[in-house]
Amino acid sequence: MPDYNPRATAYWWALVAVGSVLIGWSLRVAAGLPLGVQLQIVFGCAVAALAGMFPVRIPGSSNSFAAGEVFILLLLLLHGPEAATLAAAGEAVVGSARTSKRWTSRIVSPATAAISMLAMGSAFQATLSLMNLDSALGKAGLLVLGLVVAIGHFAVNTTLITLVIQFKTGRSLAWPALAGAFGWVGTTYAASALIAGLLYLAFEASGIGVMAGAVPLIALLLVMLHYHFRQRETDDQVQAQRLAAAEREAEQSARHLRELQASELRFHSAFSHAAIGMALVSDNGRVLQANPALCTLLQRQATDLVGHDFQDVVHPDDAVLLASQWRTLQQADGAGHALELRCCRADGSVLVVALHSGRFADQSAPQEADGSPCLIVQVQDITARRDAEARLHHIAYHDSLTSLANRIHFGECLAQAIARCQADPAHRFAVMYLDFDRFKLINDTLGHSAGDHFLTLVAQRIRQAVRPGDTVGRLGGDEFAILVDGIGEEADTVAMADRLQHTLAEPYELDGTEITSSASIGITFSSVGYETPGDVLRDADIAMYRAKAAGRARTAVFDASLRAKLAEQVGIERALRRAVELQQLTLAFQPICDLESGEVDSFEALVRWNHPELGPISPTTFIPIAEESTLISELTEWVLGSACRQMRDFEAQLPDTMRPRVHVNVSGTDICRPGFTQKVATALLVNQLAPAQLTLEITETMLMKRLDSALKVMGELREIGVGLSVDDFGTGYSSLSYLSTLPITSLKIDRSFVSQLSDNAPNTEVVRAIITLGRALGKTVIAEGIETPAQLAQLRAMGCRYGQGYLLARPLTPERALAVALDRQQPVPLIVPSHQADTGAALVH
Ligand code: C2E
Ligand code: MG
Ligand code: MG
Repeated sequence: MPDYNPRATAYWWALVAVGSVLIGWSLRVAAGLPLGVQLQIVFGCAVAALAGMFPVRIPGSSNSFAAGEVFILLLLLLHGPEAATLAAAGEAVVGSARTSKRWTSRIVSPATAAISMLAMGSAFQATLSLMNLDSALGKAGLLVLGLVVAIGHFAVNTTLITLVIQFKTGRSLAWPALAGAFGWVGTTYAASALIAGLLYLAFEASGIGVMAGAVPLIALLLVMLHYHFRQRETDDQVQAQRLAAAEREAEQSARHLRELQASELRFHSAFSHAAIGMALVSDNGRVLQANPALCTLLQRQATDLVGHDFQDVVHPDDAVLLASQWRTLQQADGAGHALELRCCRADGSVLVVALHSGRFADQSAPQEADGSPCLIVQVQDITARRDAEARLHHIAYHDSLTSLANRIHFGECLAQAIARCQADPAHRFAVMYLDFDRFKLINDTLGHSAGDHFLTLVAQRIRQAVRPGDTVGRLGGDEFAILVDGIGEEADTVAMADRLQHTLAEPYELDGTEITSSASIGITFSSVGYETPGDVLRDADIAMYRAKAAGRARTAVFDASLRAKLAEQVGIERALRRAVELQQLTLAFQPICDLESGEVDSFEALVRWNHPELGPISPTTFIPIAEESTLISELTEWVLGSACRQMRDFEAQLPDTMRPRVHVNVSGTDICRPGFTQKVATALLVNQLAPAQLTLEITETMLMKRLDSALKVMGELREIGVGLSVDDFGTGYSSLSYLSTLPITSLKIDRSFVSQLSDNAPNTEVVRAIITLGRALGKTVIAEGIETPAQLAQLRAMGCRYGQGYLLARPLTPERALAVALDRQQPVPLIVPSHQADTGAALVH
C-alpha cells in the first residue's frame, strides 16, 4: 500500500474485514438455500458480473448505465439481501478490475459493495415485510423502495470508497460537487431499480416464464446497447479525429500558402535588388525575366532582353560553349554550372563574365507558362579581375623593361617546343642566344638610363626582325634569346641570324649620342636532341661564346665538338685543381727593361703548367678556365706568394742598391674580392717586401667588365702603395681620357699594336698617342711584345721608357732572370741570346 497513511490503511483494512465477513455470511446463508435457488443466485451473480464487463456508456457523457444493478436488485427482491450482496460483490470485482489497476481498489471495492448492499438490502427486506405487496399501493411502494435502495446502495458504496481517498489525501472532499458529478450515475441506479422492480412484479404475476424470457432479453439488450454506444463512440471519435485532421490540414495549407507567398516575395525582392545580373531563362534559351543589375551590366533595356534569346548577348565565339553547358544541365538535372565567357554590351564592347546557371527545383520558383521549370542565370562582371590577372601574369612572365618574355616564360615556351619535337620529330626549332659586345661600355660611359634605352631599342629591333610566332626573351643584362619554332632548313635560320646582325649593327640614337654596337649570336638546333630547356640554353650560350671568341659581331652554330671542347675544359679544370693543390705550377719571370739604359726595371711573373700527360699548357688556355671556376683565387694566391718569395730571394742576391720589383697578373674575380687587399698585404709582409715592389696587372677587357666592383679594391691597393697596371691596353674599349680617372700607375701597350709598328702604319700614331697621353697623365707606359730592333728603335724614338719582349728577354727561370738582372747593370746592347730562354717561353704563342 504505497501511498496509504496509517489512517487510510486502518480504514481500508476495516472495510475489507467487514466486507469479507459479510460476504462470508452471505455465502453461508446462500449455502443453506435449496439448490434451485442457489443456481438462480449463481446465475444472477454471473449476469451481474457480466453486465459489469459491458457497461453501457451514456453517449456524450463520461457516465455508464449500471446494468449489473438490475440483476443485483432482482436477486434482492427474489432471494434476499445475502444473494444481492454476493452479486454486488461479484459485480464490483469485475467493475474494479476494469476501471482500476491498483490492487487496493480491486480488493476494497467488493468489500464496500457487500457492506452497502447488505445494509441497504436488509433494511429493504425489513421494510418490505411490513408492507402488503398484494395491493396496488404495495406494488408501487415496492417500486419506490427498490428505487431508494438502489440510490442508497450507490450513495453508501460511493461514500465508503470516497472516504478511503479522503483519508489518504487528508483533504476533505467537496461532497456537493461529488454528488453533482455522480447525479447521473444515481439516476441510472434508479432506472435499474425500476426495471428490477417491474421484472419482479411481472414474475410475481406471471411466474418464472416471464423472468426466463425477460432476463436474457434485457441482458441481450444491454449488450447490444453497450456495443451500439461503443460503436457510436468509436464513430464519434473517428469523426472527431477526421475533423481535427481536416482542420490541421487546412491550417497547414494556409500556413504553407502564406510561406509560399512570402518566399515568392522574397525571391522577387532578391531578384530585383541583387547586385549581380540575374535572368530567368526558359529551357529553349529565351529570357523570361531580367533584373535591373543585368540590364546595367549589359547596358540594355529590359525590353531588349526579355523575350529574346540569351545567346544574343553572348560573344559569338563563346555561344557554343554556353549552349553545350545548358544542354548538360538539362540532361543531368543536377547542381548548377559555372562558366567564364564573354558577353557583348549594346555598344559592342566586350566584357568577361562569370556566368552561373542553375535549374529551379523549388515549386515556388517562377515557371514558364506551360509549367516547365526554367533556368536561373547569374552574371557577374569579372573583366577587371581578368585584366588584373592578365597584368599580373604579364609582370610575372615578362621583362619589365622590354616587355619581352623573361627567363621563366622563355623556359616554358622552350619546354613546349621540346615536347612538340619529341611528339613529332619532323617538327624542329632553333634557339639563338645574343650578347651585345659594347653594352657594358654604354652603361658605364653613358649611364644606366641610356643602357636601358639601348636595351629597349634592341628589343624592338629583334621583335621586328623575327616572325610573329617566334618567342623573344630577355634572359638578363644584355643577353637575349630567340626561339624560332617550326623551322625549315637550318641554313635559313643562320641567314636570319645574319640579317639580325645587320639590323642590330645599325647605329642607335641614345639621348642625342649616336652609338654603334654589335651582337654575338650563338645558335643551336633541336636536331641535337634536347631533353630540357636548360640544355638548349647552355649550348646556345656555348655557341655564343665561340662567336664572341671568334672576334665579336659573329654568328656561331653549336656543334657537338663545342661540347667536346667543354668536356675538355672540365678535364683541364680538374687537372689544374690538382696541380694547384700539389704545387705543380711554376713561375717564369720576364724582365721589363728600361729602354734607354737597358737595365732590368722589374719582372713580370708568368705562371707555367707542365701537365704530366699533355705537356706544357699555355696560360691563355688554362687561365680562362680557372677564371670561370673558383680556382682562380687559389691560383692567384699561389702566384702572388711565390712571386713575392722569389723577389725576397732576388733581393738577397742583388746589390743593396737594387730592389727587385715584380708584376703579378690578377683576374677580374680577384680584383673584385673584398678580402683581396688583405691577402696582398700579407704576402708582402711575410716576404718583407715594400708595397712599391709589387705591381698588379689586370687586362683592360677584364677591368672594363668588372669596373664597378673593381674600383673599391683598386683604391684600397693604391692606398697601401701597391702599383696597378692596365694590361693589354688597346684591346678593350676604354678611352684614354677615361683612364685618367682610374687609380692606376702604369699601362702596358698590347703586343698587337707593337707588332704592327712601322713608319706609315695607322697604329703607329695610336701608339704615339698612348705614350704621349700616358706620360702626360703621369702613368708609366710599358710596351709589350718587342720582337725586333726596329720596333725597339721606334718606341724609343716615341719616348716610350719601358718595354718587354722576346728581343729584350723571354720569360726566364728565376735563376736566369736574376742573372740577366745582374748582367744588365751596365748599359749594354739590349739583346739577350736566345739560348737563355727558359722552356716555359716555348709555351708562349
Ligand atoms: P700578359 O700578361 O700580357 O703576358 C705577356 C704574354 O706575352 C706572356 O705570355 C709572354 O710570354 C708573352 N710575350 C712576352 N713577350 C713577347 C713577345 O715578344 N712576343 C710574343 N709573341 N709574346 C710575348 P704567356 O706567358 O703565355 O701569358 C699569356 C697571358 O696569360 C698573360 O698575358 C696573362 O694575361 C696571362 N697570365 C700569365 N700568367 C698569369 C698569372 O699568373 N695569373 C693570371 N691571372 N694571368 C696570367
Ligand atoms: Mg701581364
Ligand atoms: Mg699583356
